[in-house]
Amino acid sequence: MFNVDNIRKDFPILQRKINGHPLIYFDNAATSQTPDMVIQSIVDYYNNYNANIHRGVHTLSQEATDAYEGARLKIQKHFNAKKSHEIILTSGTTHGINLVASGFTSLLKGGDEVIVSALEHHSNIVPWQMLCERTGAILKVIPISLKGELIIEEYEKMLSEKTKIVFVGHVSNALGTINPIEHIIKKAKEFGAAILIDGAQATPHIKPDVEQLDCDFYVCSAHKLCGPTGIGMLYGKEEWLLKLPPYQGGGEMINEVTFEKTTYADLPHKFEAGTPNISGGIAFGIALDYLNHIGLDKIAIYENELLNYATKKLLEIDRLKIYGTSTKKTAVISFNIEGIHPYDIGTIIDKLGIAVRTGHHCAQPIMDHYNIPGTIRASFSFYNTKEEIDVFVKAVERAKNMLL
Ligand SMILES: *Cc1c(COP(=O)(O)O)cnc(C)c1O
Repeated sequence: MFNVDNIRKDFPILQRKINGHPLIYFDNAATSQTPDMVIQSIVDYYNNYNANIHRGVHTLSQEATDAYEGARLKIQKHFNAKKSHEIILTSGTTHGINLVASGFTSLLKGGDEVIVSALEHHSNIVPWQMLCERTGAILKVIPISLKGELIIEEYEKMLSEKTKIVFVGHVSNALGTINPIEHIIKKAKEFGAAILIDGAQATPHIKPDVEQLDCDFYVCSAHKLCGPTGIGMLYGKEEWLLKLPPYQGGGEMINEVTFEKTTYADLPHKFEAGTPNISGGIAFGIALDYLNHIGLDKIAIYENELLNYATKKLLEIDRLKIYGTSTKKTAVISFNIEGIHPYDIGTIIDKLGIAVRTGHHCAQPIMDHYNIPGTIRASFSFYNTKEEIDVFVKAVERAKNMLL
């Protein structure tokens, strides 16, 4: 059974009042809230075993190293990677994507092609544009339909022997569309192209199995799945991680340093220069424990109920339009009310304690596709309730009546 009242007790922030109203947090696609268990793991680290890792012989350093490497094993198990050194701990999705895009500089030449989708977050567009500028490779874009789904036939037409890497999001952050990545990966492989999946928006709702997916890279951020900010993971197939050059130079990532020649450390440390976010890594592992204890399958079912309920209620509002109407969606609703700027609605409902995102959601190409400046985005998590949705829908109606 899914007991949302009990779950809500795990999140201290949900007790907060905003402008005199109970907080209703519907900005989960930007960052999720943090359960007490995760917060306490950070407090415990700093209170009891704060030390640098991988180098000390002393007890604290060994304890910190064991906890940090233990987190890597939890992440490996969660994503079902074959080897623990295929898990690179990063500062987040953006870092993971830049690491791979930078690494591909030496592997591409002018005229090679790389494919991105029109549904991407700016994080999964700009690093590849920069890569193309550096190498002369050509960026191709998979277009989207009016429903906000990738047009797969167009993707299939784009693929050729020239395609070197494909990068698509597992789930769109602006619309919530779940992309058919199994098919997208399979097709890329047929042409020998590498493939990176941006899982930042999928991982809070779906447990990806990287081995079964057979993707070459998969990236995500802990802060979207109940973990802290400043930590994330890059899964990379061993063969690719061996092939790519290091991203940053520094401590931790070397084997031997002389001024004549430096040799690099083995995986995963080759890609982990400098002192990492130790408490963040440990807390990431605890966040996965927390989610797995509840069960991502149960979370997905409950969130889907919230999505259907909110969609139905919102559509009862006259002049309200939802963008992204795929039948395969996570609990994200992007909408506008005809004649009203999204920002104005967001500001008014904040006065009533409701947190939503307004704007282009780091996905301007999608807004251009619909020819709008932005949307109001409500994104739900498993600690939200139907009662909160009722309050939210009433607040949107009230804002509309004030503004029209
Ligand atoms: C949030 C998000 C990112 C960026 O994540 P950071 O944690 O800011 O690095 C990239 N892609 C998608 C789909 C996202 O939702």
